[in-house]
Amino acid sequence: MKRIGVLTSGGDAPGMNAAIRAVVRKGIYHDLEVYGIYNGYAGLIEGNITKLELGSVGDIIHRGGTMLRTARCEEFKTPEGQAKGIEQLKKFGIEGLVVIGGDGSFQGALRLTEQGFPTIGLPGTIDNDIPGTDFTIGFDTALNTIIEAIDKIRDTATSHDRTYVIEVMGRDAGDLALWAGLADGAESILIPEETHEMEQIIERLNHGLERGKKHSIIIVAEGVCSGLEIGKQIQEKTKLDTRVTVLGHIQRGGSPSAFDRVLASRLGARAVELLLEGKAGRTVGVQNSKLVDHDIQDILTSKHTLDLNMYRLSQELSI
Ligand code: ADP
Repeated sequence: MKRIGVLTSGGDAPGMNAAIRAVVRKGIYHDLEVYGIYNGYAGLIEGNITKLELGSVGDIIHRGGTMLRTARCEEFKTPEGQAKGIEQLKKFGIEGLVVIGGDGSFQGALRLTEQGFPTIGLPGTIDNDIPGTDFTIGFDTALNTIIEAIDKIRDTATSHDRTYVIEVMGRDAGDLALWAGLADGAESILIPEETHEMEQIIERLNHGLERGKKHSIIIVAEGVCSGLEIGKQIQEKTKLDTRVTVLGHIQRGGSPSAFDRVLASRLGARAVELLLEGKAGRTVGVQNSKLVDHDIQDILTSKHTLDLNMYRLSQELSI
């Protein structure tokens, strides 16, 4: 293998740049030429492809977003779109590809591998919802962004004796909500993996009030319900002064944490090694602090699980 490509696809996540840098530098270290494909699969179809040098990825390790930019591309879901993509890869003499993104992006990587094009998937998403890895690139940074925001909200919640409902990202996975709730001592954490009764949430609030607690933080993963709806119900069913903050896309941005930079560097470098070893259709992850790789199809057919012991702990600690 002489020439490889790298692209970022789907939702952006902090640390994607560190992963791109690792793929490029590790590739060049092994005398490969590395090509950057801009705008995800859309750029692949269009041939928006440029050779990257050591300097092309300088000064990006600390930047959020992705220098290769990202996109969603419906056309790539079709066999015709995929054929156009493979044609472009062949035109540029690219023999292996690293795709950094979420499960949708992995579907694209699987299609390429099935059609004989060696592709490796790197989990890049703030949601931490990819099986086969304990952490995805971007999760730790997003979590810290949430914590910083909640700490600030807590200051005003305490000053005004208010109840705050904070909606965080996580459509199918409650990892961000759970970790943030545990890290910030939230009274209730609403995650998609569990069922939640409004009566119980109110009961917990009342219990806190009885022991003199005048402010509360409730974290809601967006996949459970809108934070506004929860806030409305609490306001209606209690006399508590309740406010709602939807953190939104602030969670996607910012300089990646040290953890995400290190994770991205390790995963990016391992992806290049796998291509050099002649492997294809693998995803790279970290489990119990060790680098691992799995069959991409297995990853796409298994389900990410959240540590429910952590959920129980959060409940025990917020009595
Ligand atoms: P994420 O990778 O963050 O989960 P998406 O689900 O939007 O983001 O997927 C990103 C892109 O991956 C899509 O816009 C599309 O180009 C490609 N993709 C998603 N699903 C498939 C599929 N079944 N076959 C081929 N490509 C796909």
